[in-house]
Amino acid sequence: MSLIVLQGVHKTYQSGKAGEVHALRGVDITLGEGEFAMVMGSSGSGKSTLMNIIGCLDRSSRGNYWLDGEEAGHLDRDARAAIRSRKIGFVFQNFHLLARTSALENVELPLLYQAHPPSYSEMRRRAREALAFVRLENRADHMPSELSGGQQQRVAIARALINRPRLLIADEPTGNLDSRTSLEILRLLQRLNADEGLTILMVTHEPEISAYGKRVVRLFDGRIQSDEPIREPRSAAADRDALGEEEPNDHERDAATLEAVP
Ligand code: ADP
Ligand code: MG
Repeated sequence: MSLIVLQGVHKTYQSGKAGEVHALRGVDITLGEGEFAMVMGSSGSGKSTLMNIIGCLDRSSRGNYWLDGEEAGHLDRDARAAIRSRKIGFVFQNFHLLARTSALENVELPLLYQAHPPSYSEMRRRAREALAFVRLENRADHMPSELSGGQQQRVAIARALINRPRLLIADEPTGNLDSRTSLEILRLLQRLNADEGLTILMVTHEPEISAYGKRVVRLFDGRIQSDEPIREPRSAAADRDALGEEEPNDHERDAATLEAVP
């Protein structure tokens, strides 16, 4: 079964100055389980709008959307929040961590918003496990300002995984990171996709980065311009290893595994 099906999706924003902005003009897309799709397109082509609709952060103006077999295109705010909490993890360019809140507490946060939050000790246990998965268990008590950009993004990924989502949406997750750190994030995403079977939809405007996905969808002016498989995706682990060591700190330990992700 397809995880995501969009048919004829339009999004029109009403904007004071510009009047109506047609951000999406009839998008059809199907995403199966286990895919790792890169969404590309120039600034303003509709990438974030599409992610926000697929991620149930926003609603389409017209068209149909099914997520995991459920109609998800016409839900109200509360129903969308419930779906997000159960099925979707998000990662953003600017990490979106709460300042003055430890890494561990940032990771725990989505559990608090569940309809039936687990016990305090269970929250702690799962947050520690998620931090171990991104190899930051030894930074649990650090504040975001005490972490590098790459480490902050790994905390954000741990937070996105804590509810064991079916889908991970990453909107330019490497946009603020140097190329070495970008490879580390891509390695983590490739590992989640390959080993844990997590379906990933990621936005990037950099062609070099899109080569690590298994499929590239190009948007142009609110429409899909092309949608093609990548036969031999690059390996971020291999490319990162080829760069050699610079920070042999917490990145190089053996992978912990997060039970039952997704
Ligand atoms: P991308 O992520 O590809 O840069 P966006 O999806 O952010 O593109 O934006 C697509 C178009 O919709 C742009 O013209 C943008 O200015 C417009 N847009 C995005 N969000 C809003 C909004 N909340 N209100 C009005 N216009 C918006
Ligand atoms: Mg964008």
